Amino acid sequence: MKRGFLNKPNTKPPGRHAALADSDNARAGEKVSTSNVAPKAFATGSKLGNVGPAAGKVPSKLDSRPVVIPRTTKPAPEVPLSGNIRGIVGTRLDMRIASLPLTGHPKTLCLLFPGAKEGIDALPGFPAPLPTISPLDLPYYTGRNPRIVAGNRGVYAKVDFEPGDNILFDRPLLLFPAAMPDTRVQNQAEEFLKTMVGHLDPMTREMFYTLHNCKSNDPKSVRGIVDTNALGIGGLPGSYTGAYAVVGGIVSRLNHSCLPNAEYKWDLLSLALYVRAVRPIKKDEQICISYCDLLQPRAQRRKELQLKYSFKCDCPSCSLPDDKSAQSDARRKDLLKSRRGLTDTKDFLGIYETQLEKWVADPSIPENFLLTRSEDCLLMMEFEGVYDEGVWFMHAEILAKVLCALEKRTDAVFLAEKAAAMSKAFTGKDGGWGKVAEAPEKTAWWGRRKRLAAK
Ligand SMILES: [Zn+2]
Repeated sequence: MKRGFLNKPNTKPPGRHAALADSDNARAGEKVSTSNVAPKAFATGSKLGNVGPAAGKVPSKLDSRPVVIPRTTKPAPEVPLSGNIRGIVGTRLDMRIASLPLTGHPKTLCLLFPGAKEGIDALPGFPAPLPTISPLDLPYYTGRNPRIVAGNRGVYAKVDFEPGDNILFDRPLLLFPAAMPDTRVQNQAEEFLKTMVGHLDPMTREMFYTLHNCKSNDPKSVRGIVDTNALGIGGLPGSYTGAYAVVGGIVSRLNHSCLPNAEYKWDLLSLALYVRAVRPIKKDEQICISYCDLLQPRAQRRKELQLKYSFKCDCPSCSLPDDKSAQSDARRKDLLKSRRGLTDTKDFLGIYETQLEKWVADPSIPENFLLTRSEDCLLMMEFEGVYDEGVWFMHAEILAKVLCALEKRTDAVFLAEKAAAMSKAFTGKDGGWGKVAEAPEKTAWWGRRKRLAAK
């Protein structure tokens, strides 16, 4: 552990970021850069995944704050769109605008394919209540940092955050398919979106029109606002298998950084997005998420951001001199190899598991076998300020097993504490890592290499 991963990392301030820009509607499904691999903390077997916080759990930074009763709003009337869909009336593209039976505000208006509303409604635990908080007690503010002259409009921390802390939650204003599956309805997408916005209650509609629009000079262009602000949330129940996207009143105001200090996750049961810190964040620091795949090289990231959101990224990573940027690109490319292994190789984790078993049973295999690669990958992510969920947890799990097998308690505890915080950042739960941090010697891997080597 000489090379530093297990030393407390220096947190690079994200600095100021480029002009306001947001995600792309048609590609919104791609926006979540982390893989869908669900690693597990080895001691408990509890799955990590995109599960969001436990129902009704108030985020940690908000725990001590007063609770206000959520106001409920009347459900908006359902609007069948089949009559408006030219040429395909009565087919499988029979969509409707509907709201779901939720408490809290706003009542998200949804553009849904058949079966989606019924499927969501039938989920055990739906609808989970939103955490409640007085607007005065929110641990963030939107707009500009008053201390930075001509700074960007965005979302800023009102308090310090640690990795894993909840920063904000946001019930979206609109929810809709990320892309229309049929060219016959693609042309009518704007019409559907306008109809939805027309059915929002006046306060919510006002909030929608205050969102940034990088696509059109007309500030009232619904399509422009949606294309600028949509975030992908993945699939929903029902017959449609494509991805959906949302526009949020707060979360859509978060700016981009190629070394973001926060991650967002969708929680279907409370129909809300949760934003959590992945790095320590200081009061008045801007909270940033990522709009693109961060394992791409700088030139590709810049191209994509310019094309989709019309801005040139000047985050600390994109502002590096060319030689340093080339090194950064090489590290990200190396991390991409791990992610491609996870996404393209069948049972990639199983292959690692087999290698770990061999290593544990064979004293002739060097002690640092597997350790070096996993430690390097975690270090690279720390150095780049980029945490790919699948890659991070895969290497953390391998490294934790190796450290436990070698009975390196201090290092194992440090890693498990870090993993618990990262798991909270990505899922709202510690994924069993807290128990590993408390007593690594109680894990099944403790001393395995030593024991077998001694035989
Ligand atoms: Zn950048």
